[in-house]
Amino acid sequence: MNTAPLYDTFGRLHDNLRISVTDRCNIRCFYCMPEMDAQYMPREEILSWEEMARVVRVAAKLGVRKIRITGGEPLVRKNLSFLIREINAIEEIEDIALTTNGVLLAAQAQELYDAGLRRLNIHIDTLDRAKFLKITRRDEFDRVMAGIDAALSTGFKVKINAVAVKNLVEEDIVPLARFGRERGIEIRYIEFMPLDSQGLWDKSKVLLQDDMLKMLEQGIGPLEEIPDRDPRAPASEYRFKDGIGQVGFIASVSKPFCMNCNRIRLTSDGKLRYCLFAIEETDLKGLLRDGSSDAAIADTIRENIRQKWVGHEINTVQFVAPPRPMHSIGG
Ligand code: SAM
Ligand code: SF4
Repeated sequence: MNTAPLYDTFGRLHDNLRISVTDRCNIRCFYCMPEMDAQYMPREEILSWEEMARVVRVAAKLGVRKIRITGGEPLVRKNLSFLIREINAIEEIEDIALTTNGVLLAAQAQELYDAGLRRLNIHIDTLDRAKFLKITRRDEFDRVMAGIDAALSTGFKVKINAVAVKNLVEEDIVPLARFGRERGIEIRYIEFMPLDSQGLWDKSKVLLQDDMLKMLEQGIGPLEEIPDRDPRAPASEYRFKDGIGQVGFIASVSKPFCMNCNRIRLTSDGKLRYCLFAIEETDLKGLLRDGSSDAAIADTIRENIRQKWVGHEINTVQFVAPPRPMHSIGG
């Protein structure tokens, strides 16, 4: 097997793999899924835990060190702790994190912790119950809040992901940051991206990082950018100058970070994607199921990364939204 590190043709090193373990979800955020009749892949198309763990083992030989589990909603799939344990046992893997909507977290937090998971991103855009219902179209606010409490009391390192949609969440930016400051949770504001299944996105609906920074400074107090952060991390992070808490921004629209991208993605149906916005995908499932060797899987991963483009073009007229919505790619 060729185990050389995964550089693309622009010199970017890839050591970060995001795995979407399911395309199913138990809520219906309007910027990700349709309200009714979500189209899910047939179960036989979905990789088994063993198949996913094998991909991680091969990727680890090629220099992948960080894994994020995502979805759909990863906690709706049974026995996720099995995958966590398998990945945790891979010597080269240094970090495993999970992104979840938190609805099922209170019931699973301890089991996930016992399997070796330590880092969680919990997704909630508002502390206003009525607005939560409007965004997610499911009445699960209490379970998400219970999930956050359970995560903290179990000992997880927690961040909150909040999607920033203009003319919708302006009033939630400051309360979320206050909530984070009280609990030692970093809030990560994510600019609304064109990955919704209903084609609702346009640039005028994106609440931008600079506007959120102003709101936070006016509502709470001065912020300063955190120095010496990992230049390949997608979030720009700021701390409150009073020493209490910090926030981060994933500004994919206003400040794209493609030139620092170190990520590859595996979808639940076994496709490799070199970008969240990629149009093309590379199939791994066929190789996983036809008796191909680890070396063949490694070559296919390498080839996918070799094809990686310089970056998405959200801000240009050339931009074409990918054919899959967010819940099926894995955010
Ligand atoms: N269900 C889990 C959750 O909601 O966290 C994991 C999968 S979800 C696709 C991953 C993240 O994508 C979410 O935390 C949410 O913040 C983000 N997200 C979903 N749709 C988005 C969109 N259209 N633009 C920006 N971020 C989005
Ligand atoms: Fe489900 Fe996450 Fe998509 Fe919301 S963002 S619909 S929780 S997959």
